[in-house]
Amino acid sequence: MHPARARLIHDRPQHPGPVLYWMHRELRARDNWALLHALALAEQRRQPLAVAFCLARRYPLAALPHFAFMLHGLRETASTLASLGIPFLLLRGEPGHAVADYARHAKIGLLVTDADPTRPKRAWLADLLASLACPAIEVDARNIVPARRATDKAEYMARTLRPKIQRLLPEFLDPFPNLTPGLCLDASPGASPGSPPACALTLPPWPAAAPAVDWPALLAEFGPPPPHFPPGETAAHSALAAFLRTGLPRYADDRNTPLEPASSRLSPYLHFGQISAQRIALAVQASPAPLEARLAFLEQLIVRRELAENFCLHTPHYDSTEAFPAWARATLAKHQHDARPFLASESQLDAAATPDPLWNAAQRQLLATGHLHGWLRMYWAKQILLWSPDSETALARVLRLNDTLSLDGRDVNGYAGAAWSIGGVHDRPWPERPVFGTIRSMTPGGAAKKFDVKRFVEAWTRPSLL
Ligand SMILES: Cc1cc2nc3c(=O)[nH]c(=O)nc-3n(C[C@H](O)[C@H](O)[C@H](O)COP(=O)(O)OP(=O)(O)OC[C@H]3O[C@@H](n4cnc5c(N)ncnc54)[C@H](O)[C@@H]3O)c2cc1C
Repeated sequence: MHPARARLIHDRPQHPGPVLYWMHRELRARDNWALLHALALAEQRRQPLAVAFCLARRYPLAALPHFAFMLHGLRETASTLASLGIPFLLLRGEPGHAVADYARHAKIGLLVTDADPTRPKRAWLADLLASLACPAIEVDARNIVPARRATDKAEYMARTLRPKIQRLLPEFLDPFPNLTPGLCLDASPGASPGSPPACALTLPPWPAAAPAVDWPALLAEFGPPPPHFPPGETAAHSALAAFLRTGLPRYADDRNTPLEPASSRLSPYLHFGQISAQRIALAVQASPAPLEARLAFLEQLIVRRELAENFCLHTPHYDSTEAFPAWARATLAKHQHDARPFLASESQLDAAATPDPLWNAAQRQLLATGHLHGWLRMYWAKQILLWSPDSETALARVLRLNDTLSLDGRDVNGYAGAAWSIGGVHDRPWPERPVFGTIRSMTPGGAAKKFDVKRFVEAWTRPSLL
C-alpha cells in the first residue's frame, strides 16, 4: 500500500497486543486498503487481527432500508473474512465508546480505522480517542488519491483540483493485491499485478471472546433489503460488470438523460463501501469502451467524487449555508424577498404534490427506488430553492429528503451536490434571475431540450409505482 494512505492519528506508546480494524466506511473485504494495511501490520508484529463493526443505535437521517442494505452487505463481508481466517466482531451501542470498551477488553496493541470527514464519524472517532490507550492509524481507502495528499485546502472548483489529482494518479492508481483464503499477497509496491500469493497468512488466533453474530435475528430487525439494489460485494461487482457492458460505452452521450440512462447506479455500493472506487477505475481503464466515454466517467468517479470529499474535509459547516461562497450568499440575500412562483410545504414535497409534473415524477422515482438520476437530482434540488422561503430552508429540505430517501444519502457527494445546487459551491455566477440571483438555475424548458419529459413523467405516474 502507498504509505501516504495511512496517517497516525493517535500517538501512544507502542506495546504488544492484537490489531483491531474498526471498519465503519469501507464495508468490504475485497480491495480495501485499510484492511490490507491492518493485515500487513498484524503480520509484521506477529499479532492476531480482527475486524470490528459497531452498529450505532441511530444515525442522522438513516432509515430502515439504509440499515437493511448495509447489514445484508456486511453479512457477506463477514463471511468472506471468516473464510480468510479473520474474525468479524459486531458491536452495538455508541460506536466511539463501544469500540473503546472492546479495545480495552481485548488489550488491543494497535487500532486501524477508515478515514471519514463527516461530522458523525468525526464525533465517534473523538469519543474513541479520548480513552484509547494504544496508537491508532487512519487509512484513506475511499479516495484513489488520498484526500489529504491531493491538497491541504478546500478547492475552489473541479478545475483547481483536477490537475492535482491528475499529477498524483499514476502513483496511487495501483493494482490491488489478492486476498485469498489462507494466503495473503505481498502488498509491497514492487509486486506485479496478478502475481501469485507470496506469503502464507500466519496470524495467531484472536485472543478475546468473539461471539458469533445472529444474522437472521439481526436482519429481521431491519426488514428486507431494498428491491432495486441487491446489497453486498458480489452484487456490487455484478452491477459494475453490467455497467461496463451496457452503460459505459454510451456514457459520454447518454449519462445526462434520465430516460434509459447510461449512468452506473453504483453510488449506493460506493456509499456503503461495498465496492472500491479504485477497482471501478481500474476496470474502466481496462475496458474496450471509447476513450471519450471512459474519460467522462472517470471525471465523475475520481475528480467530482474526490472534490466532494475535499469539500467536507475542509469545510466544517459543509451542510449549512455558511459553506456557500461569499458571492452566492450575497446574491441569495439580495433575492430573498423575490416573489416565488409557488411556496411549497414540507408535506407537498414529501408527497410529490407540487405543480411541476417533472419534479413530482422525480420525487416518485426517489420514493419508489431509493435513487434519483444525477441530472434530475440537480433539477430537483434547484426547484426546491425556487419554492422555499429562503436558502437555509431550501438546503435543509434538500438534505432531509436526499438523506432519508436516497440509498446513497448522507454522503460527502450529497453535501457537495446540495451545496452546488443551492449555494453555488464549486460553481461560478450565472446571469441574474429572480429568486436564484446569480446561482445557476434549471428550468422545465431546459429539461425538455434534453430528454422526453412527457415520457419520463408518464413512466413515474403509473399508479403501480405510487
Ligand atoms: C442535490 C444532489 C444530491 C446528491 N446526493 C448524492 C448522494 O447523496 N450520494 C451520492 O453518492 N451522490 C450524490 N450526488 C451526486 C450524483 O448525483 C450521484 O453521485 C450520481 O447521480 C449517482 O448515480 P450513479 O452512481 O449512476 O453515477 P455515475 O454517473 O455512474 O457516476 C459514478 C460515480 O461517480 C460519482 N459521482 C458522479 N457524479 C458525481 C458528482 N456530481 N459529485 C460527486 N460524485 C459524483 C458517484 O460516486 C457515482 O456513483 C448528488 C448530487 C446532487 C446535485
